[in-house]
Amino acid sequence: MPRLYLDANATEPMRPEAIAAMAEVMALPGNPSSVHAEGRAARRVLEEAREAIAARFGARGRDLVFTSGGTEANALAIRGLSAGRRVLVGATEHPAVLAAAGSEAEMLPVLSDGTLNLAGLEAALKAAGPALVAVMAANNETGVLHPVEAIAELCQQHGALLHLDAVQMPGRLPFSLGPADSLALSAHKLGGPKGVGALLLRPGLDPAPLLTGGGQESGRRGGTEALPAIAGFAAALSCPMPEGLATLRDAIDEGVKALAPEVIIASSGAPRLPNTTSLILPGVAAETQVIALDLSGVAVSAGAACSSGKVRQSHVLAAMGFGAEAACAIRVSLPWNAGANTPTLFLEAWERMRSRLRAR
Ligand code: PLP
Repeated sequence: MPRLYLDANATEPMRPEAIAAMAEVMALPGNPSSVHAEGRAARRVLEEAREAIAARFGARGRDLVFTSGGTEANALAIRGLSAGRRVLVGATEHPAVLAAAGSEAEMLPVLSDGTLNLAGLEAALKAAGPALVAVMAANNETGVLHPVEAIAELCQQHGALLHLDAVQMPGRLPFSLGPADSLALSAHKLGGPKGVGALLLRPGLDPAPLLTGGGQESGRRGGTEALPAIAGFAAALSCPMPEGLATLRDAIDEGVKALAPEVIIASSGAPRLPNTTSLILPGVAAETQVIALDLSGVAVSAGAACSSGKVRQSHVLAAMGFGAEAACAIRVSLPWNAGANTPTLFLEAWERMRSRLRAR
């Protein structure tokens, strides 16, 4: 059986359009900061990509800072905008956000469906004084969508800045900067290359840079821009959004429940990304499930895959109130090019895995 790749939230397969755009730009010799014709040609590619990406999210090109990915975009926003402010972060944030926020940050609780607890946010904002709130638009493990508009309204009422980690949204659901102050993006989660991302800013906001040097990115991020990767980022973003992923995902959810009613689907009662489901098989360690599925040709992950191959209990599920089950969840995340037979192939492999593990 050919391999079935269902780990798109770790990274999406590259879009052919992105690969083609990168190959073309790799052949350009110039540095976008050089003044000669070659440099100006490279600058044109950079600025066109900047404008195109910013426009997709309702922002201006001059308010977009290219970074090395989502991790750096989150760090630039959180470290660069939080001077004199208390940092409040969602308990289910990605480690990139938790690490940038640091141990002094206050954790915002989530409800049992994984969405941010708005009463908890309001209480924290009242107590905090000047604050910066950092939350994700969509969770990478469960796919749950936070109520971003209500969060933004509360932040505005209390004069707090709002940073959104939107790394998992583009290419799956329409999204824009809207009432937020900043937004982190990562190209490899939307069919572009790994190692490039962006921070979008509300006009007038100027984060203190993490990297200084040659004054690139209007002094907000030193270092020669990764031009081929940036071209691939813009090309991937211009691809049409895949259709029908929610139908395939729902067929997986229903199939698994029919085979094993004891399975718990995390956040299934809340709005979720159309491509993501988190399946808890009580009593079977996530790592065992991932390895068994991998041996049958199916790639999924245990919670977040972003921690260099480590598999441990999901802090996301723990924050939602799960106990031992938090160590028994696999994340199935469908890529943009998932075929119509994905549910059938996955369910066959999943049932084989379950019967084998049960027989041990
Ligand atoms: N934020 C979220 C929600 C993510 O899922 C990830 C990657 O898994 C990141 C941030 C980090 O992005 P990058 O891999 O581009 O550094």
